[in-house]
Amino acid sequence: MEQVAMNTALKASESTLSEIEHKSHVDVNRCFQCGTCAAGCPVTYISDYSPRQIVKMLQAGMVDEVFKASMIWLCVGCGNCYSRCPRNLNIPHLHDTLRVLSKEKGYPVAEKNVDVFNDSFLKTVQYTGRLYEAGLTMLYNTRSGNFMSGMDVAPGMMKLGKISPFPHLIKGRKEVANIFKKMREMKGAK
Ligand code: SF4
Ligand code: SF4
Repeated sequence: MEQVAMNTALKASESTLSEIEHKSHVDVNRCFQCGTCAAGCPVTYISDYSPRQIVKMLQAGMVDEVFKASMIWLCVGCGNCYSRCPRNLNIPHLHDTLRVLSKEKGYPVAEKNVDVFNDSFLKTVQYTGRLYEAGLTMLYNTRSGNFMSGMDVAPGMMKLGKISPFPHLIKGRKEVANIFKKMREMKGAK
């Protein structure tokens, strides 16, 4: 009975791994674990796993652990790893894919505030056509519960004209909103 359960679990992780590789265009078996990506990654010191370890876990079929990892949320997409990888693995895109799939599959988000920030950022772009810093701050602060985040520097930045309390609406914001609409339709049609 245990053998049957193990085989089913292995098959499930194999098909999820194929989905990850297909959507990210990253073949994890190309990685030979040199560690160059981990050495240049600016967030490894605060994450649970390094990018090298994430790839190693995928090679071993540990998809559940990878979906729950903080690394996939803390990756800032700087591209240091990708530009230095001797096997040309696009790790930032792999992490993007893992974030999307982990949410779609209902895994707990390891870094909730990163998810809230990403979502708040996109909402301001959807409604104003570009980043609206003050709106992003208000949305993020209220949704994350970090009510005073950034409040120490905001008045000074406004005084210097670096940020405005009002959004700068772009001309093509209707088209930008349509991109979001189309993306939602594509997701629904999947
Ligand atoms: S740099 Fe590339 S080959 Fe080396 S461990 Fe990282 S992903 Fe693997
Ligand atoms: S893209 Fe992500 S994983 Fe790669 S070095 Fe930058 S933060 Fe680290």
